[in-house]
Amino acid sequence: MQDLTSPLRDIFGFDGFRPGQEEIVRAVVAGEDVLAILPTGAGKSLCFQLPAMVREGLTVVVSPLIALMRDQVRALRSAGVEAGALTSANSDEETEEIFEAIDAGRLKLLYIAPERLASAGTERLLARAGVSFLAIDEAHCVSQWGHDFRPDYLRIGALRHALGRIQTAAFTATADAETRVEIVQKVFGEAGAPRTFIEGFDRPNLFLEFRPKAKPRAQLLEFCKSRRGRAGIIYAGSRNKTELLAQALRDEGIAAMHYHAGMEPEARRAAEERFQIEDGLVVCATIAFGMGVDKPDIRYVLHADLPKSIEAYYQEIGRGGRDGLPAETLTLYGPDDIRLRRAQIDEGLAPPERKAADHARLNALLALAEAPDCRRTTLLGYFGEEHAGGCAGCDLCRDTPERFDGTEAVRKALSTIFRTEERYGVGHLIDVLLGNETEKVRNAGHTRVSTFGIGSEYDKAQWQTIFRQMMALDLVRHDPDRMNALRLLERARPVLRGEERLELRRDSLVRREVRRGVREEIGEEDQPLMSALKSTRRGLAEAQKVPAYVIFPDRTLIEMIRARPTSLDAMANVSGVGAKKLEKYGATFLEVLTGEAHDPVHPARQKLHGEEAGPLYDRLQSIALGVARGLDGTDKPLSLSPSLLARIAQAAPETLDALARIKGMDAPRIERFGKAILDAVAEV
Ligand code: ADP
Ligand code: MG
Repeated sequence: MQDLTSPLRDIFGFDGFRPGQEEIVRAVVAGEDVLAILPTGAGKSLCFQLPAMVREGLTVVVSPLIALMRDQVRALRSAGVEAGALTSANSDEETEEIFEAIDAGRLKLLYIAPERLASAGTERLLARAGVSFLAIDEAHCVSQWGHDFRPDYLRIGALRHALGRIQTAAFTATADAETRVEIVQKVFGEAGAPRTFIEGFDRPNLFLEFRPKAKPRAQLLEFCKSRRGRAGIIYAGSRNKTELLAQALRDEGIAAMHYHAGMEPEARRAAEERFQIEDGLVVCATIAFGMGVDKPDIRYVLHADLPKSIEAYYQEIGRGGRDGLPAETLTLYGPDDIRLRRAQIDEGLAPPERKAADHARLNALLALAEAPDCRRTTLLGYFGEEHAGGCAGCDLCRDTPERFDGTEAVRKALSTIFRTEERYGVGHLIDVLLGNETEKVRNAGHTRVSTFGIGSEYDKAQWQTIFRQMMALDLVRHDPDRMNALRLLERARPVLRGEERLELRRDSLVRREVRRGVREEIGEEDQPLMSALKSTRRGLAEAQKVPAYVIFPDRTLIEMIRARPTSLDAMANVSGVGAKKLEKYGATFLEVLTGEAHDPVHPARQKLHGEEAGPLYDRLQSIALGVARGLDGTDKPLSLSPSLLARIAQAAPETLDALARIKGMDAPRIERFGKAILDAVAEV
């Protein structure tokens, strides 16, 4: 059998294959047509990149997003592989260079944007280029029913034919059977079904969590503040909200920006670029921020509003933790989200069957939100996968919520809706249940309704929880034609008649945020070394204008700390350090690891080792970086020197006055960093 682990090591610097990869790579190397369905972050790119390198001829990769292609090309080149991309964003020189490399037979991988497939020139170019293998990334883009449909993807079948039914492999993370059939028809056509690989959908490094909204802005800010310095995506329901949230985060001294489809294309590109390159940036975005996101070190994905469906949810959280390190996901939701999502479905133009299916998919997501136990089991169950439960990677396995028999409560509520003729919203219904004689209650004559005052065993907040769960169970829905009054659904009947019992959840009280995640991967004592490695990496990345992880991903830095190589030979054995990178960066990082680098940890910080001010110093340093360019990231950069940071950390000032007395804290610095510093001091 062909040795594939050597190229895996030498070119990519990986120790082994991830689940599913090896079988797929072997099938491709053996010349088979392949359809591979692997979850986001599973490592699909490697399944066509590695075969491309070990075989003769040129591999053509069709990929839908320019930013994504450019990243891959950049990463391949930095690993010493001849790769190029043909896109509308190319300069003439870039394109010329690619043609030369093709003619000289040097090019191994050529990425092509789908719209390029339309040009006759492309077909001619490929015909003379000796293409031996065609890889289709994000193959679900051929699906007309899918949310990522790209009409140009339909040209792939013809291209394949023109190239003499060339060997082809298609990759996607979209699991459903319908899409699979469409891909086979449209890509492989009369050649028939390719060999199909389906890998599991579990992403064990993603922590899954849902929380009902209660002061959602504060919930969100608290979450982000305790994860300062980590890259995150926050999905919000509207463009305006993305802007407001980004501003609120910057007010807390967290580097953040917004992103939505209403921005100029230029501004969007700049934002994508910045997110890709900058360490620890948070982007507040609508779902327009999507497929192009290929940043491996996203540490959290927070949904500030309920996603559209369980598929959308899975795809969006899937952008976190692609490097395999722990990443967190949190979804905030409430009754308004449920109402809004239902209204969007009802007001859409889809035929009735499709609307019913959309409601069902929303119900599946709500069932996940209100799940009684292990979310992973519920989520994977939806994708047809079994999971034993007890995953330790979700909020419900961490703290099992208290449950109670809610049958009677729900019956009282349903009955109140019924007796008030399905004409009122939650607030009024709760007033009736609690026996509150408000003006509205009196005017409507609802003090005489038989359920008036029969719900006093719960308070208002508890009733809100109960109503929310009734909506999630799809027993009741808001009726947009009746000013969003709640109306009963057919499935409420058996409950109302007492034929069905219901378990409900008691919402746990708001928890304090704790710092967790990546930090646990290495001990507190190694944090300064990690910072030193990161700042070396940042320096190299900035000099080359590439994202930090292109130099080395976090995972590799952690491996370096674990292995503590003392020679270049030992460095070569660190997972993630391939031959090319060893040559380029090995010595530089080795110096940091062996303490021979100039100033790996600044002496000002070293003096604080083991002191209480140490962690505060690190915190302040990340704040200083976060708002170095001001709250909206566009001002002139301003910094805090290591000695100034040390003075602040030791003084731990609690007021702006106290801060202003510290030597070096001038007015501009107070204005830019003051509030964030005081918060950091207060939190430590
Ligand atoms: P997908 O396209 O399936 O979403 P990618 O191809 O973008 O995933 O890979 C996700 C991440 O996993 C990348 O950072 C990649 O470098 C990394 N990766 C892929 N294969 C391996 C492997 N065998 N060992 C370690 N890391 C890997
Ligand atoms: Mg991919």
